[in-house]
Amino acid sequence: METTDQAPAKSRRTGPLVSSTGQVLVRPVTFQFALDPTVDQRVLFAKSAGARRVAFNHHVGRVKENLDRREREKDLPYGPRLPGLSWSAISFINEMNAWKNGQLDSSPQNDDGTRGLHWRHEIPSDVFECASVDAAQALANWSDSKRGTRKGVPVGFPRFAAKGRVTPSFRLRNRANPGETQSIRFTDPTHLRLPKIGEVKVFGPTRRVRRMIGLGRFHIHSATITLRGGRWICSLNGVAAKFHHERRRPKDRHATTVGIDRGITALAVCADAQGQLLAVFEGVNELRHAHEQLVRAQKTLARATPGSKGRSRAKSRLNKLHRRVANQRRHHAHQVSSWVMKNCGSVVLEDLNVAGMVKNHHLARAISDAAMGEVGRQIHYKAPWYGVNVTVADRFFASSKICSGCGAKKDRLDLSTRVYACEHCDLVIDRDHNAGVNLARWTPALVST
Ligand SMILES: [Zn+2]
Repeated sequence: METTDQAPAKSRRTGPLVSSTGQVLVRPVTFQFALDPTVDQRVLFAKSAGARRVAFNHHVGRVKENLDRREREKDLPYGPRLPGLSWSAISFINEMNAWKNGQLDSSPQNDDGTRGLHWRHEIPSDVFECASVDAAQALANWSDSKRGTRKGVPVGFPRFAAKGRVTPSFRLRNRANPGETQSIRFTDPTHLRLPKIGEVKVFGPTRRVRRMIGLGRFHIHSATITLRGGRWICSLNGVAAKFHHERRRPKDRHATTVGIDRGITALAVCADAQGQLLAVFEGVNELRHAHEQLVRAQKTLARATPGSKGRSRAKSRLNKLHRRVANQRRHHAHQVSSWVMKNCGSVVLEDLNVAGMVKNHHLARAISDAAMGEVGRQIHYKAPWYGVNVTVADRFFASSKICSGCGAKKDRLDLSTRVYACEHCDLVIDRDHNAGVNLARWTPALVST
């Protein structure tokens, strides 16, 4: 095929990817489909997920042993010391190839005298490579976290991926550049071709993603195949082109800054600095109801006899409910975030310590906290797509306690008090509405209030 060489080789690439139609692909996007694999494909999926576990555990085990031995040798006064291992993804990949192909002393020994993983040829080799990359990343997260250079909750040493405990999953990459024949592609509206695995039937409408690929507006980087709630799901991860400029900057956006208060009764309440209430998003009660079902399913599982049929039934029901709750949470969060992108040019959110909140053991709080965290996450990732300016108010800004009428501040305000009544100016206003107005007015100079 003739190439105009619009996209340079992947390894040399520094800027964003450019598609064969000249689109700059800057937006990380994932499309998800449920798969309908044949019996043989199901077996291959399960084997591949198993191979991923083997490869991941191999690296983690190797590093753990190396660290333990070096720890023991640390106190020796003299003598040879064990050198450290390289934890880079590329060295993991090379080591994995040598190990599985039987080129190392540590390679597995087979009954027929050969060395190496005898079943390695059944599995797409990319499964091993991606698992090596994942193991390297997990170890990097741990060491960064230990050194204090990683944000968020502390990350422990990677745990071994035990069968039955981790979600069966594996990843395959699309090695082709834009314009070349893609190794992961739709062969027709209902079939996705995966390297080494072949054509797999896909459920659900694929028109949009196929159209985007056809126009060069989406490029697939990888496909992750995961068994969730008894069903194999494929996530196509890639990069997409920017939206059309009219979608990026709608004309009828709210003229002033909008404050978004995320709460435990309404998921989000949006108001502006003039005190106008713009939108209220419910949905928390629905999440709570789904969660109650989840708790009941958990109890059923706990009471079931280990190894019984009832137990496996209870377990699959619990998995399904977990999936449903997560879906609902995402759905409600999308309602909020897409409204914000369409209607606001500039928003202020309060700073939620989500990592700390998820540890909250009070159930009602835990549910809304997770939903609030998801709303924030979506607003942050969508904002650059739509050119929305997002500001995060200082963590110590008491948006709920300040009166939006006169600026007086209450010393305390219980979570159960749903209406804000000011003692100074007689303002009576919904608690979340009040907080939204305060957030809309927030500027960095207000830190000390
Ligand atoms: Zn007041």
